[in-house]
Amino acid sequence: MTLATFGGSPALSHPIVYRWPKVTEESERLVLNQLHSGQLSIYDRSGVVAQFEEAFRQYHDARFALITSSGTAALHSAYYAVGLGPGDEVLCPTYTFFATAMPLFQLGALPVLVDCRTDGTFDAALAEDLITERTRAIVVTHMWGLPCDMNQITQLCAKYNIVLIEDCSHAHGATWGSQPVGTFGEAAAWSLQTQKIIAAGEGGILVTNSREVYDKAQLLGHFNKRAIQEMDRFNPYYRYAATGLGLKYRAHPLGIAFALGQLPMLRQWIACKQEAASRITSIMSALPGVIPLNMSDKNRTSAYYALVFRVDQEQSGVSRDLLVDAIHAEGFHDIDIPKATSPLHGLTAFTDPISPVFQYDRPSLRAPSYPLADRIAANSFKVSVPCEGVDDEDENRFISALGVVVGKIAFEWSTLGGRGL
Ligand SMILES: *Cc1c(COP(=O)(O)O)cnc(C)c1O
Repeated sequence: MTLATFGGSPALSHPIVYRWPKVTEESERLVLNQLHSGQLSIYDRSGVVAQFEEAFRQYHDARFALITSSGTAALHSAYYAVGLGPGDEVLCPTYTFFATAMPLFQLGALPVLVDCRTDGTFDAALAEDLITERTRAIVVTHMWGLPCDMNQITQLCAKYNIVLIEDCSHAHGATWGSQPVGTFGEAAAWSLQTQKIIAAGEGGILVTNSREVYDKAQLLGHFNKRAIQEMDRFNPYYRYAATGLGLKYRAHPLGIAFALGQLPMLRQWIACKQEAASRITSIMSALPGVIPLNMSDKNRTSAYYALVFRVDQEQSGVSRDLLVDAIHAEGFHDIDIPKATSPLHGLTAFTDPISPVFQYDRPSLRAPSYPLADRIAANSFKVSVPCEGVDDEDENRFISALGVVVGKIAFEWSTLGGRGL
């Protein structure tokens, strides 16, 4: 049973990829309905836009929801709407996708990067050390679906009177305690991009309990009919509702119809992912030094956008890259090294920040180093977590294929250079 990476035949005769997004029957029906209605632009809060916003708002027991053209647009709208502007500092995870922070530059605000905890979540204690007189907000990302410690983070925000924004783009349906993520701060944003747990193809959504935040967000990206219909007439900005402020962040109704058909599945998907994640973790435990990073625990339920494993080379004797190559070679292609989500402190936008509206005189990088984010980036890989439950053929094929591949590699572990067996 020579490993395929050394020229043997692959363990899987049919290579495994994970297909996403799910095309539910309801999605298909809603997309066709929308198409045949001829309504390919929704100007106000009506139709599938209103239905999705209403369902999403209720899911989060929040007062307002606003669909946008992307998660990036939802974040930009949130940052503008909570009042961030030139020179304001925002504490921001370095271990996130860069879109969490990038819209801040549009406003002249400056992201100040914070290292993560060993599980990849935001470290409020490290953030506290970086607070200055200019710190106005904290943005946290529930990375790969695992909720950050919201007790610590909300306490920190209260102590310094700073605004909290949550980037929930990986974490649709995740909960901290019994409370869904996206309900702890002033505003929250979700991406509905095609890879995300609820997928419109392209799209995003903002949720808030603040009328002021909702109205300002509409002003930024939803001029004319929607802003005129929805904004509070007594808001001093209402007189700008017809023109907005120069951006258009409306989403495509076909995408929203597609996402609307997935939303009723969310609770069930999250529940099934808990079971699937334990099965995957127990399969991986056959490989010494391959450690799960971001499991649900008694305080929090991960949405498992992905399950991340760290390869501790001291313990394993095998490098992350060699192991990932070996798994791919056996025909299991859903193991991925997340390159697009490399830590922000290595990217030019943060080593040398610029804004179209402000000249920065302070750096984004204030900590001497970001060892935990670096360690995760250098040593981890991720795997998708299926969501359809034990009765589903695709899901079982996916997990049993992983079992076959990992079983073969574990058996041949020493040929790969591994220790510990
Ligand atoms: C996907 C994503 C975004 C951006 O969303 P888009 O819809 O692609 O604009 C922002 N933050 C995180 C953490 C993401 O994963």
